[in-house]
Amino acid sequence: MSDSIITRYQNVKNRVHQACLDANRDPESVQLLAVSKTKPIEDIQILSKNGQKSFGENYVQESLAKIEICPDLEWHFIGPIQSNKTKPIAENFQWVHSVDRLKIAQRLSLQRPTDLPPLNILLEVNISEQASKAGFSPQEVLEFAPQIAALPNLNLRGLMAIPQQADVLEEQRKPFAKMHQLLKQLQQQYPDWHLDTLSMGMSGDLEAAIYEGATMVRIGTDIFGARDYSKT
Ligand SMILES: *Cc1c(COP(=O)(O)O)cnc(C)c1O
Repeated sequence: MSDSIITRYQNVKNRVHQACLDANRDPESVQLLAVSKTKPIEDIQILSKNGQKSFGENYVQESLAKIEICPDLEWHFIGPIQSNKTKPIAENFQWVHSVDRLKIAQRLSLQRPTDLPPLNILLEVNISEQASKAGFSPQEVLEFAPQIAALPNLNLRGLMAIPQQADVLEEQRKPFAKMHQLLKQLQQQYPDWHLDTLSMGMSGDLEAAIYEGATMVRIGTDIFGARDYSKT
């Protein structure tokens, strides 16, 4: 088993590297986040021994148990956030990708322990404007970003999206290109902020995301194998 996870991990790293070359980008400009939700701590430890240091988690209870065992890894919260769960997230993670409303940002700032560095956050954008999906609309990003950037214990680093799935590369690229435009607009408007992160691209569309400027890709299935939710 451990062989296959290492092989899959290497394959994903190779894909990221090749996509950077194809897009004329520095391979160092894209960070790989290993999405370990529902996967056992042993898998995380194997990857950690092979050089992977940042992991993404979606469920608070599950992630706290893992963070307790591996406190020295870099932990990113990427799942939907209920407002009554912000405290453990503010206390235990270095990054939150899924900030989808002002209230969540305010609570995370209030609950971030002041002896820790500011919590790195990304605003989740509902870039495909799907009624069923969380996230700010692009217009709301521009409207709320100043208030969120002003919160004392947060460091607004950029944007995150999970676009509607598409099979063809050309279709996959469109929402990612919109995300890149939106980040550029913010960067131009607010050159003093630390806006350096575009979190987009998953197992099925990482190449398209890297073409369009992703700086962080979030990969679960193609590293860890398919998730079995019946066991959780
Ligand atoms: C589960 C998840 C991923 C990983 O998706 P895969 O298709 O398994 O690579 C990435 N981002 C978010 C927000 C997720 O919830």
